[in-house]
Amino acid sequence: MKALVLEEYNKLVFKDVPDPDISPGEVLVRIKACGICGSDIHGLDGSTGRRVPPLIMGHEASGIVEATGSAVKRWKKGDRVTFDSTVYPLDDWFTLEGRYNLSDNREVLGVSPGDYKRNGAFAEFIAVPQHILYRIPDSVTFEQAAMVEAAAVALHAVNMSGIKTGDNCVVTGAGMIGIFVIKLLEISGAGDVIAIDNNATRLISAQRSGARNTFDPSDVNLEEKIKALTKSRGADISFEAAGKSETVNISIDVVRKGGTVVLIGNTAKFIEFPLQKVVTRELRILGSCAIRGEYDVILKLLENKKLSVDDQISAIAPLSEGADWFRRLYNKDGNLNKVILVP
Ligand SMILES: [Zn+2]
Repeated sequence: MKALVLEEYNKLVFKDVPDPDISPGEVLVRIKACGICGSDIHGLDGSTGRRVPPLIMGHEASGIVEATGSAVKRWKKGDRVTFDSTVYPLDDWFTLEGRYNLSDNREVLGVSPGDYKRNGAFAEFIAVPQHILYRIPDSVTFEQAAMVEAAAVALHAVNMSGIKTGDNCVVTGAGMIGIFVIKLLEISGAGDVIAIDNNATRLISAQRSGARNTFDPSDVNLEEKIKALTKSRGADISFEAAGKSETVNISIDVVRKGGTVVLIGNTAKFIEFPLQKVVTRELRILGSCAIRGEYDVILKLLENKKLSVDDQISAIAPLSEGADWFRRLYNKDGNLNKVILVP
C-alpha cells in the first residue's frame, strides 16, 4: 500500500510499504480521510518525543471496512466507520471503571513515544481492534467523520464540567478545540458564552460559533468586564484550551466563587498557579484528557445537522501531497485550520 512515512525527523516520504496484517479481533480499514492534528505537526521535528521515526502518523480518520479477523462479529466488509484515536485494553482497571481514556498501556494510533509504536492512518489501510470502531451515519461524509475526534475531545471537556442549563461560560483559546467547545456549549444549553483569544480572526469564528462576547486577553479590566456580563459574579464555568500560564490564570480569574475551571490545553509543562485564589474561592479545577466514548454523540449531532464541522476544514488534499501540507502547517503558512488528506 501507499503511505506517508515519517522516515526521519522533518522528512515525510510518500512511498510503498507492506499492507498491515490483521489479528482475529482486528478490522482492516481502507482509509478515506485523515486529518492532520496539531500533535502530528509538533511531532514532525522530534520536539515532543512522541513520533520516533520511522512511523506512519495520523489518528483522526475514517474509512470503509475492507476485511475482518476471524473473531469479528459486528463488522463486515463495506461498513463506513471511524475509530477512536486510542487503542485501550479491555481488561484494565480504569477501562472497567468506565474511564478507558486513562487506562494503563493504552496506545495512540500514529504515535511512537519510545515504549511502543502504532502506525496510523496516513496510509491506504490501517488495522485496528474491533472495539474502537464507530459506524458513520449515511448522511455524514468521510471528511466530516475525520473531524469527529477533535469535536469529541471538546465534548469530553463539556461533559466533565457538569454544565447546567443557563450556566454562563468563558472559553479561553479559540482554536479548533475551543471553537468546538463553544458550539457544544450552545447545544448543551449554556447561558452566555464569552470567548478570549489574541487572534482577531479566531474571535470572529468564535462569534459565528455562538460566543456572545469576545475579548483579547490583553484587554484592560478583563476580569471586571466579564463580571459585568455575568451578574457581577463571574462565569459559572471556564474552559481553557490554550495550555499556557497566562491563559490558565485568566480562566481562573474569570470564574465566580465556587465555579469550575476545565483545563484542556497542555502546551506548558509547568505554570504559575494562584493557590490562594483557588483555595479561598473554592474553585473546582478539572483536567480533561482526550475522549471517553463521545464519538457516537458527535456522529449523531452531525447526522441531525446540529453540529457543523465543515467551517473548520481548510483543505482536502491528496495524501501524496501530504509532505507539502505538513510543511505549510509547520511554518504556519496562512490561517489554516484542519487539513484532511485523502489516500
Ligand atoms: Zn489529535
